[in-house]
Amino acid sequence: MQGKIALEEHFAIPETLADSQGFFPDTVWSELRARLLDIQDRRLREMDTHGIEMMILSLNAPAVQAVPDKQAAHDLARRANDYLAEQVAQRPDRFQAFAALPMQDPELATQELTRCVRDLGFKGALVNGFSQVGDAETLTYYDEPAFRPFWRAAEALEVPFYLHPRNPLLSHAKIFQGHEWLLGPTWAFGQETAVHALRLIGSGLFDDCPGLQMILGHMGEGLPFSLWRIDHRNAWMDLPPTYPARRPIADYIRANFHLTTSGNFNTATLVDAIAEMGADRVLFSTDWPFENVDHAAQWFDEAGISEEDRAKIGSGNARRLFRLD
Ligand code: MN
Repeated sequence: MQGKIALEEHFAIPETLADSQGFFPDTVWSELRARLLDIQDRRLREMDTHGIEMMILSLNAPAVQAVPDKQAAHDLARRANDYLAEQVAQRPDRFQAFAALPMQDPELATQELTRCVRDLGFKGALVNGFSQVGDAETLTYYDEPAFRPFWRAAEALEVPFYLHPRNPLLSHAKIFQGHEWLLGPTWAFGQETAVHALRLIGSGLFDDCPGLQMILGHMGEGLPFSLWRIDHRNAWMDLPPTYPARRPIADYIRANFHLTTSGNFNTATLVDAIAEMGADRVLFSTDWPFENVDHAAQWFDEAGISEEDRAKIGSGNARRLFRLD
């Protein structure tokens, strides 16, 4: 399929590059490093070769979220966003932008989101899970009441918020201690991000902000597969829900969330996501440079779904959600 739009596509600036290094061997790291720093060269060639018309770009992870000092986080976000704006300005027909945000401080995050959308023309925000605030061991999740003004501002700006993974801190997640192979895309990214999304929903955020639109990558971080069970546990007991939100969890996921195919190129999973969410809420993405554009595009172009759904997922839904054209 030509004309695809991809929206979980990352870059790094020199200051955030080391965040992506992980435990990759030197050969892999030299390749990944070059991919992260490139925007206008190899990335565009990959897009041309595999029918991707546009990428909406975002900073790598955890980056700003792992800077405990609020002012330093704000400064880093501004530098990354200014750099991204310059890059997009060179090829606005091929690149658009998501803002990095200093969620360590809801007011600074609101300021920066507003600046990025109003002044720089960004299409939304992409945030890498919880933020460390004040010190490395103090974490904040965005269902906390202090974030409601931020969410109301995001809703008023009419731009989506992409909740992207980061690893849990091992000091807070004994279940992964000694089993580090489960970190990252293998399992921990999905678990961490799915629980954060459920916290947001259960808190009643989308009763306060019914127009707010969220995006989850990796085909919904496992949520579509578990959606029925979340709302139907112990059904015979007929107990009321114990969370503040007013409706079943699945209602909010279907009304306030979109999923992307980033890093999860499997047709059975895609078919389940379409069945649970509807084809209007699933969007193509690759997760370059951590995954390959060719792997994503060749799979998607041939996946066993209808051509109508392929057109929506490949580009139509993104054009509508981000008011492209
Ligand atoms: Mn990603």
